Amino acid sequence: MQAPLTIIGTGMAGIGLARQLRALGNDRPITLITADSGDDYSKPLLSTGFAKRMPPQRLAMRSALEVADQLGAVVRTRTRVDAIDTKAQQLVIGEERLPWSDLVLATGAVPRPPFAIGSSLANRVFSINDLDDYRGFHAALESLGRPARVAIVGLGLVGCEFANDLQAGGHQVTLVGPEQALLPRLLPEPLGLALGRVFVASGIDVHYQRLVTRVDQQGAQATLILNDGQQLQSDLVLVATGLQPRTELAVAAGLEVGEDGVKVNRRLTTSEAHVHALGDVACVDGINAMYVQPLQAAIRALAATLDGKPTEVGYGAWPVLVKTPLLPVVSLPPAHDRVTWRIEADGEDMTALAEDELGQLQGFALTGSCVRRKVELARAAPPLLG
Ligand code: FAD
Repeated sequence: MQAPLTIIGTGMAGIGLARQLRALGNDRPITLITADSGDDYSKPLLSTGFAKRMPPQRLAMRSALEVADQLGAVVRTRTRVDAIDTKAQQLVIGEERLPWSDLVLATGAVPRPPFAIGSSLANRVFSINDLDDYRGFHAALESLGRPARVAIVGLGLVGCEFANDLQAGGHQVTLVGPEQALLPRLLPEPLGLALGRVFVASGIDVHYQRLVTRVDQQGAQATLILNDGQQLQSDLVLVATGLQPRTELAVAAGLEVGEDGVKVNRRLTTSEAHVHALGDVACVDGINAMYVQPLQAAIRALAATLDGKPTEVGYGAWPVLVKTPLLPVVSLPPAHDRVTWRIEADGEDMTALAEDELGQLQGFALTGSCVRRKVELARAAPPLLG
């Protein structure tokens, strides 16, 4: 019997690829393996759930069993792959060896906390990067039985989205990070400060240019110690200080891996011909976008390739929509820093255009009512991966 196409990971990348193969009419055997529950959920909705008081079970669109049934695939949950043997084309799971014909790494990315979190703080300090994490944080909030004081560490997309969402859910939010403004990788400073002003006006406590050096527990509360000696008290801490591609399996298997993930070409193939990588773990021709739109394009290309039609992926000029309803934000960061920002503002409604030395648009950022210009501007900007 032919060994299955085996996919490690059941996030958007893993399930999305299996679904696309079936949509193409491909009926080869597929096995999906995941360390988590295998529930099919939309990760972007995690940072919109607290405002709507959404219980975790409502975020799970399908159970692993339903996924398996729908895809005619084997789904193994709560199963951690320990190693990949590329020569024997086998996965190592404990004592078990599982043969594969083609392998897809869809292992995502892992949060990187900037400080040590002792086990005694496990029920106080969280990061939310999957549905299991959401379950844990949701349970901690519920157990308080009242609105919580939540300190969020990190001023990027995930930190800002959770700050807006938790504030809208009635919680008291403090946001801390080392940068001078919010969304430092997505917005030029004046726009990041505009978002900060709107956050502060809504009641969110924002601390710029502060590093968290330690978190201590005092009774039922957590204390954040900042690098200027200041102490911030909270019930719960949410760490949102960035994600790192989960590459240990690939490194141990001898695949080519860089800082931005497992290196793949535009056919999503790694340095081994029958091993592919997709989603947050993959660096495609030098770019690891970590957003849904590029991921979906990669799914379509890899599914076509695995279905016998070798296809290269391309990314368009796809802006990121940040889910901060207090002040909507759209951003298409320029690919390089040889740009000048031209900024127009009407209150907190801002348009920032990143232009190169020839005056050509290389990226843009929009806030408030200006986000309606996103389609028009995206048409004029260069593709992310042309
Ligand atoms: P993941 O969903 O992380 O899946 C990884 C899978 O690999 C999991 O099933 C895990 O269990 C499994 N795994 C890992 N290691 C092993 C192992 N050794 N053995 C077995 N299984 C393993 N993008 C947007 O475009 N728009 C948004 O609005 C947006 N909002 C976001 C909000 C939040 C809070 C976050 C965290 C991200 C957001 N993103 C957004 C990014 C987007 O959701 C991700 O790019 C995408 O979901 C990544 O999917 P993935 O399948 O690559 O990884």
